[in-house]
Amino acid sequence: RSGYVAVVGKPNVGKSTLSNQMVGQKLSIVTDKPQTTRHRILGICSGPEYQMILYDTPGVIEKKMHMLDSMMMKNVRSAAINADCVLVVVDARKAPENIDEVLQEGLGDLKDKPPILLVLNKKDLIKPGEIAKKLEWYEKFTEVDEVIPVSARYGQGVDDVMDWIVSKL
Ligand code: GDP
Ligand code: MG
Repeated sequence: RSGYVAVVGKPNVGKSTLSNQMVGQKLSIVTDKPQTTRHRILGICSGPEYQMILYDTPGVIEKKMHMLDSMMMKNVRSAAINADCVLVVVDARKAPENIDEVLQEGLGDLKDKPPILLVLNKKDLIKPGEIAKKLEWYEKFTEVDEVIPVSARYGQGVDDVMDWIVSKL
């Protein structure tokens, strides 16, 4: 089984770190500076029964959609159109965000919407009780298909993300 995975989210949420963990080697530059990876970078991740192509797509949910310039918009579109599934990465420390508006803009007129996984990253930085609350919020108030808390930096939950992706290929 093989497929394309779009990794989207604001700068610094951990998209590159997560991608690197999944690929098992450096895929793109990890940095504290926002928006170092300006262009989509492709990584290939394969196991005995699967192959996945990762798109590290910076800046997708960075601003309200009406503020996105046309180039950003094209990135959202092309990433989404090519994807078999979409990982939306958020920083667990931040207040829950209504990501539906942006996803709707990006995916809205596609005939077959790809499955969407909300990756609640940096779980190592907040209390378990807080993680549970945020997980519940995203499940209740957004259209995402699943929520998985992870710590990309420490590799926690990354296997669950991989399993979810493989189940969608
Ligand atoms: P991107 O802009 O979304 O690609 O984010 P990066 O992967 O470049 O990560 C931004 C910063 O967050 C880096 O300093 C990472 O080391 C850090 N980071 C990423 N994931 C985690 C995590 O799970 N826990 C912690 N504590 N830091 C993380
Ligand atoms: Mg990056």
